[in-house]
Amino acid sequence: MRNSFLPFSKPLISEEGINSVVETLRSGWITTGPKTAAFESKFSEYTGATHSVALASATAGMHVLLKALDIGPGDEVITPSMTWVSTVNLIVLAGATPVFADIDKNTLMVMPEAVERSITSKTKLIIPVHFAGAPADMQPIRKIAEKNNLLLAEDAAHAMGTVYQGEKIGAKGTAIFSFHPIKNITTGEGGMFCSDDPVLIERIKRLKFHGLGVDAYDRDTHGRSPQAEVMEPGYKYNMTDIAAALGISQLAMIDAFNQERRQLALLYRELLGEIDEVMPLSDPAYEFSHAWHLFIIRLDIEKAGMSRDAFMQELKLRNIGTGLHFRAAHMQRYYRETMNIRPGVLPNTEWNSDRICSLPLFPGMTDGDVRDVVDAIKDVLK
Ligand SMILES: *Cc1c(COP(=O)(O)O)cnc(C)c1O
Repeated sequence: MRNSFLPFSKPLISEEGINSVVETLRSGWITTGPKTAAFESKFSEYTGATHSVALASATAGMHVLLKALDIGPGDEVITPSMTWVSTVNLIVLAGATPVFADIDKNTLMVMPEAVERSITSKTKLIIPVHFAGAPADMQPIRKIAEKNNLLLAEDAAHAMGTVYQGEKIGAKGTAIFSFHPIKNITTGEGGMFCSDDPVLIERIKRLKFHGLGVDAYDRDTHGRSPQAEVMEPGYKYNMTDIAAALGISQLAMIDAFNQERRQLALLYRELLGEIDEVMPLSDPAYEFSHAWHLFIIRLDIEKAGMSRDAFMQELKLRNIGTGLHFRAAHMQRYYRETMNIRPGVLPNTEWNSDRICSLPLFPGMTDGDVRDVVDAIKDVLK
């Protein structure tokens, strides 16, 4: 057994990244300013996005999105229940109704036909999730949105560097990325709102900062024009230059990070092939390139004779950390009690919600660490 704990995730911060944060702290300008502007433009360059707006989190991005699109009482938003709860919480807080579309059993991607079946006269917006670092099947989802005159925004929290049919996630449409410490790059906390819709971007820029009409950092006055006026009530969701300095350094390493993740993931796939009780996710059938945000397995609880939660606990006792991405939103207490969705309505979501578990995967992890995880799994199941 390992004698030190292997966490499920750990950020890799370079000395250069640390120095650039320190330099920002000493510069006399620490909130939204030149570093944030540079991070936004480098992010657009990397993803191919037309516009990028840096924010305090992806959740903040989802909030300003719903506000900008005027989502409120009487509106329905289609999203998978197999997602992080922040999206669902914000839909409910906006007074709108989340409508859950089921996912593919083995890729965890929302199924286009399930999205289509969920459309009613009240539907306004579709939020697909690019799960674990692979992309959702955007081509049919875009067609469905177009045909039914619906808005579409992608949850790209897992998709930094993901490519779908030759195009990076973020390059087309509207996508929201997260820089929470477990994501493929981090700014401590942070997010990026990317869109090719200039009208939407103007709204987002306003809504993320008090509803002020101007955003530009003025190098001469070292600040924002004091004449800026409120155009509409807005929030306070801007990114700091301290965070953006770290983001610039992280962004420079994204391809190297993802390459490391890929190698570790392929080793997991090879070694786990021998274990019957453990089923990794399948690759989607369409053309894509994986960002390997998470390495998710599903425990065959019948064959293993134990619950997923017990399995995670046993791994912890063997010094292996794991994650749970995610317990389905509609199976969490508040949504269980308020939405009361009948068991069996979202069969693939429920099946996975009881069986999924994320194994340790982060740049800086070694092949030896992967072998430790697999040995611990074998020991738990023996
Ligand atoms: C992490 C995550 C979010 C939220 O990102 P924050 O930056 O923490 O707000 C949203 N959706 C998914 C799928 C996530 O994994």
